[in-house]
Amino acid sequence: MEKNTITVFKGDGIGPEITDAVLKILDAAGAGLEYEIFRVGAAEYEENGALIPEAGFASFEKNRVLLKSPITTPLGTGFRSLNVMLRKKYDLYANMRPARSNSAVKTPFENVDIVMFRENTEDLYAGVETQVDQDTAHSIKIITRKCSERIIRAAFGYAQKNGRKKVTCVHKANIMKISDGLFRDIFYEVSKEYPQVQAEDKIVDNVAMQLVMQPQKFDVIVTENLYGDILSDLTSGLIGGLGLLPSSNMGEDFAMFEAVHGSAPDIAGKGIANPTAFLWSACMMLEHLGKQETAVKIRRAVDEVLRQGTALTPDLGGTAGTKEYTEEIIRQL
Ligand code: ATP
Ligand code: MG
Repeated sequence: MEKNTITVFKGDGIGPEITDAVLKILDAAGAGLEYEIFRVGAAEYEENGALIPEAGFASFEKNRVLLKSPITTPLGTGFRSLNVMLRKKYDLYANMRPARSNSAVKTPFENVDIVMFRENTEDLYAGVETQVDQDTAHSIKIITRKCSERIIRAAFGYAQKNGRKKVTCVHKANIMKISDGLFRDIFYEVSKEYPQVQAEDKIVDNVAMQLVMQPQKFDVIVTENLYGDILSDLTSGLIGGLGLLPSSNMGEDFAMFEAVHGSAPDIAGKGIANPTAFLWSACMMLEHLGKQETAVKIRRAVDEVLRQGTALTPDLGGTAGTKEYTEEIIRQL
């Protein structure tokens, strides 16, 4: 099997715990990966004065594939969110967040299979904020043709390639007629290139309601940065929580894979974090590297452990720790 070298960022909170678990499983599955591992985040900043060491950036620029665990941006350091910075610096414009029901995890919702494409580089995340005076602040929402076109193409391209039937554009163009109106107009322009895929648009508040009433009606969703942030936490709730929602962040040149959840400081160091979202992100990375067979093998092992239900972490209603859950997956491999 071809050996690939990837860059790994071990972040804060539960980051190190879930990274160790995932690398152990990747090795046990014979993924054929070499790792360049860097500590990033608050602890690194306190010791060396940088949240991400220069060598970490250089490694990612060389390997072009990054497996990144959650990072907390320390408050009061004057830094923007590290996550936002990485997405912008490497132009990782397409954030894909697949939320699929797992029959082994009981939730009030069944047969959810929603793939969300979230624009990752502009919108209210552009960081154009000003304090006009003591009592007034402005934050500017930026929507461009270039960034809208490429995320919408990514969504339709995915739908076409994977036999998905429908792409729903989510916006608030009834209020933000110019910015969200532009996004929606571009959506319908691009949709003409994909006649096999049905195109529809819906207003974000309505989508929030419909996702909870009838999530099965949704297939692929494409949306702006902020709506995607909020709605993907919602879709994680439909399938059993943040511990189960992976993601990829793709650009033309670089790819970054991470769990949707944050560093979960409330449970850090307790050995009970659920590594599944990060593990499934690693599976998306394996697929990106052309290692589909290893990804399938790992996904099967996870499904089996979830189905057995005897080694689940507390967020899924179990009493096992990260270690037991990880060992059970390795046994299934
Ligand atoms: P951030 O600002 O870093 O995004 P956040 O405040 O959004 O952080 P998360 O870290 O995403 O919060 O966590 C939200 C809740 O979900 C917390 O109660 C956390 O314990 C729980 N949670 C998140 N990830 C996991 C996980 N992998 N396993 C178990 N619980 C988790
Ligand atoms: Mg969060």
